[in-house]
Amino acid sequence: MKDRLFIDGAFVASASGQTFDVVDPANRQVFHRVARGNAEDVDRAVQAARRAFDDGPWPRMSGADRAAVLRRMGDLIAERKDELARIEVQDNGKPLPEAVWDIEDTAGVFHFYADLAARLDNSAGQEIELAMEGFTSKAVKEPIGVAGAIIPWNFPMLMASWKVAPALAAGCCMVLKPSELTPVSALELGQIAFDAGLPAGVLNIVTGFGAEAGQPLTEHPGVDKLAFTGSVPTGSRIMATAARDIKAVSLELGGKSPLVVFADTPLDEAVEWIMFGIFWNQGEVCSATSRVLIEQSIYVPLLERLAEEAKKIRIGHGLEEGILLGPLVSPSQHQKVLEAIERGKSEGRLVTGGGVPAGLEDGCYVEPTVFADMAEDSWIWREEIFGPVVCVKPFETEAEAIRMANDSRFGLGAAVMSADLDRAERVARAFRAGIVWINCSQPTFTEAPWGGYKQSGIGRELGEWGLNNYLETKQITTFDRSKPWGWYLK
Ligand code: NAD
Repeated sequence: MKDRLFIDGAFVASASGQTFDVVDPANRQVFHRVARGNAEDVDRAVQAARRAFDDGPWPRMSGADRAAVLRRMGDLIAERKDELARIEVQDNGKPLPEAVWDIEDTAGVFHFYADLAARLDNSAGQEIELAMEGFTSKAVKEPIGVAGAIIPWNFPMLMASWKVAPALAAGCCMVLKPSELTPVSALELGQIAFDAGLPAGVLNIVTGFGAEAGQPLTEHPGVDKLAFTGSVPTGSRIMATAARDIKAVSLELGGKSPLVVFADTPLDEAVEWIMFGIFWNQGEVCSATSRVLIEQSIYVPLLERLAEEAKKIRIGHGLEEGILLGPLVSPSQHQKVLEAIERGKSEGRLVTGGGVPAGLEDGCYVEPTVFADMAEDSWIWREEIFGPVVCVKPFETEAEAIRMANDSRFGLGAAVMSADLDRAERVARAFRAGIVWINCSQPTFTEAPWGGYKQSGIGRELGEWGLNNYLETKQITTFDRSKPWGWYLK
């Protein structure tokens, strides 16, 4: 496992020489130490990216040549799948099959953006029809420059790929700061970039804390664009800092996403997707459907079935066979979720879970937890918990379900389940959210746009939208010199 910063194509110690501990949440033991980057390291990294962008080959090479490097990165990730997945389990806690899925997705993201990079070559520019004769105009796309990416801990390598792959495909150079809770796989990505032949300075990786490494990256004048995924308060701070130098910003923040279940949904199907919507990845998913609205006529039986199935989920170490719920990412996140559950107990009815599973006290484990009968203005119904905790409420009519679903400051995901596809489509359109699922919750596709309404963020990642995040649009307008302009010189 790597432990140094990746700057200008080499693994180097931090300027201060300091390191910090990386903890395995399954046993709270330190399993690794990585370099503690600070403002000086960020400056070195941004300068390397700046040189690579301003004078290096990367932004100037054909999209096809960039695609070849991205494809090799995807291939190397796929080749090292098992090893990388095990790192994610130790760093984040998630069960191994989920980590394997993450790494496969990560490889897929590099392959997808390789194809988009190659396609950039075919775009000689978009011809623009002008209302005035004597001119022709076209719009061309160019890389935005040096990008700074700051990512969270819930899907460590996958979240890196959502930013690194499109930025590199566009021809940008970048500095990536992974979460201090899960920095290990990002450093392996540095090695993979090196092995794939990415020129020095194009991708730089600075591990460290938010205040010490993240903040200097957002403040650095050499950065043209900031891409962030994480909490609303940090996103807000990053946007405020970016405003000073008018840096482009894309933000993917939190959510409290609703899942509306109509009575014509078979109970088993509803239970499966309610559980996948909140217990997959320990509920540490920004788009987790943590508010479930159930049509009154099936409310009692569905809640009962949900509690019954939630109790059966096998909890344990992510490397153990058959485990479906691992520990939360860190002791502090564990504490935060347990405190939220305590608060929930005073605001609603605890249907199941709510504690630390017996025998697993050494790790950061929390039982799958279901709350019901809380008020619409309660904290537990309105605020993101980021753990395996779901709140359930009944509704009477479609209009009431839509009103309750949309009554949130967030707007990341939303889901609806119904056998009536016309109704499902109607409700899907009525949701004020950027990602809407019909008859499922959470499946995510590299090809489709990802991002939120309201306080859940700004901009879209993935698909062609993700590439556009890292492209500037330039108009090139040409005057037909065969006739004089004749304004001053008649
Ligand atoms: P966070 O927003 O504090 O951290 C995310 C990233 O931002 C990390 O890399 C962190 O080092 C960095 N950061 C922190 N302060 C910074 C600053 N001042 N300037 C620049 N970068 C800074 O989130 P967290 O503490 O990891 O998690 C807290 C909450 O965030 C969670 O409980 C959850 O609600 C939310 N969250 C959301 C997502 C998501 O995908 N939207 C992912 C993880 C966490």
